[in-house]
Amino acid sequence: MAAGRDPDSVRLVAVSKTKPAALVREAAAAGITIIGESYVQEALNKYSELGNLAVSWHFIGHLQTNKVKYVIRMFDLIHSVDSLKLAVEINKQAEKINKIQDILIQVNIGEELSKSGISSRDTRALVEAIEPLTHVRVKGLMALPPFFDDPEKAAPYFKALRLLRDDLRKTCIAPVSLNELSMGMTGDFEAAIAEGATLVRIGTALFGERN
Ligand SMILES: *Cc1c(COP(=O)(O)O)cnc(C)c1O
Repeated sequence: MAAGRDPDSVRLVAVSKTKPAALVREAAAAGITIIGESYVQEALNKYSELGNLAVSWHFIGHLQTNKVKYVIRMFDLIHSVDSLKLAVEINKQAEKINKIQDILIQVNIGEELSKSGISSRDTRALVEAIEPLTHVRVKGLMALPPFFDDPEKAAPYFKALRLLRDDLRKTCIAPVSLNELSMGMTGDFEAAIAEGATLVRIGTALFGERN
């Protein structure tokens, strides 16, 4: 590919929020293997209809602690963990069903007041605090950089996330692996891939504009 990356090293998360279950079924038939959802109730509705579909479900939206118990069976990866409180609740609910839940830490890489995510400078402490939780496994970092009309302007933020990941990886201990970098959407995925994304979250380019 253009960025000189091995195509197997970047996986596509097809973001189907606001889109009907039928479209998810079509996407799976067309070869999509990972579906991303942002809203708990909507995701659960689709899952009850499509639970037997051979896809992996990822949660990419803001997750409230009191909703964890409803989604713990559904998602193979939760991209948006940004507090110890949330991680502790995920650990508790995962333990109840004998699951080890894979998660990513969402970093507010642009330090924007309007965005979720933990600040870059607090990320290490959060990862270290999660390490002892036996039913949660940190697989990497996720970010939504500031929005720019020119996607190249997002590149420094993607790079900053990768450098943060590389720095954390030097010291983190198993089961933390930090191999994943979830970054890049319809408008900026090329820049994200060039900077090391392993998961790109694409909605509009696959399913069309959301209503
Ligand atoms: C909706 C959403 C996306 C997909 O955005 P598009 O611009 O439609 O590709 C990606 N990531 C997150 C966190 C989202 O909420």
